[in-house]
Amino acid sequence: MRSGISLDGRVALVTGAGSGIGRACARALAEAGAKVHAVDVDRAAAVAGEIGGWAQVADLADPAAIDGLPAEVDILVNNAGFQHVAPLPEFPPEVFTRMQQVMVTAPFLLIRRVLPAMAAKGWGRIVNISSVHGLRASPFKAAYVAAKHALEGLSKVAALEGAPHGVTSNCVSPGYVDTPLVRDQIAAQAAAHRLGEDEVLERVLLDRAAVKQLIAPESVAEVVHWLCGDHAGQLTGASLPIDGGWTAA
Ligand code: NAD
Repeated sequence: MRSGISLDGRVALVTGAGSGIGRACARALAEAGAKVHAVDVDRAAAVAGEIGGWAQVADLADPAAIDGLPAEVDILVNNAGFQHVAPLPEFPPEVFTRMQQVMVTAPFLLIRRVLPAMAAKGWGRIVNISSVHGLRASPFKAAYVAAKHALEGLSKVAALEGAPHGVTSNCVSPGYVDTPLVRDQIAAQAAAHRLGEDEVLERVLLDRAAVKQLIAPESVAEVVHWLCGDHAGQLTGASLPIDGGWTAA
């Protein structure tokens, strides 16, 4: 078991569990003893198989699909998300809307769905995977920055409403994590700026970080696991940066 924090008997629901950070979170929670609902639009079954959990195939842009997800869980990890990079005048409105649906409306609908059962038990953990872009802006990421700032606000409201019922809500806000989402950005920027991928990594992505390396998805998952322990009942309404010093500068 990681960190010595047992989650035996807990049931967790992790969105975007098919890849990257979500997959690492699903694995970490399962290794700590939780039974995990792995939610993803298309890769839920593979991860559920790896961790002995349950696969839930759902497109989180569709509120009806969220209505079909389990409501009785102890731990909710709102992680699913995606990126689109474009200047504001060229940013496709339909992409902006879909990002808010997946990265703000879906977490809202899921929190709304699971909170009553958590409150009835007197215990719950909500962890929202935000970003340094929930705390700071970068150009060309209008939809992503808007969505992550909204998620930070939603998480704080959940913390206030959950507090009397033993339910915490926090954001974990990473810098650049080594996942397919980031590898795709590196490739796109390398093509756009006619740079090598190493140069994009050093000069663009890690420019604002003090620690000049991508973060491992497992490092983010370790913090998520830690937040789910009994010991963390008074850590709520917070945003924990895992950003190699990005927001310190
Ligand atoms: P990823 O692309 O590796 O994984 C995202 C997962 O979300 C995929 O499995 C995808 O299928 C799923 N998903 C996307 N849209 C969905 C939908 N409509 N319904 C259901 N599932 C859907 O990305 P990642 O890097 O692991 O990102 C996970 C989260 O972490 C995102 O919210 C992202 O914004 C956040 N984040 C990532 C980084 C980073 O550098 N990678 C940094 C900060 C925050």
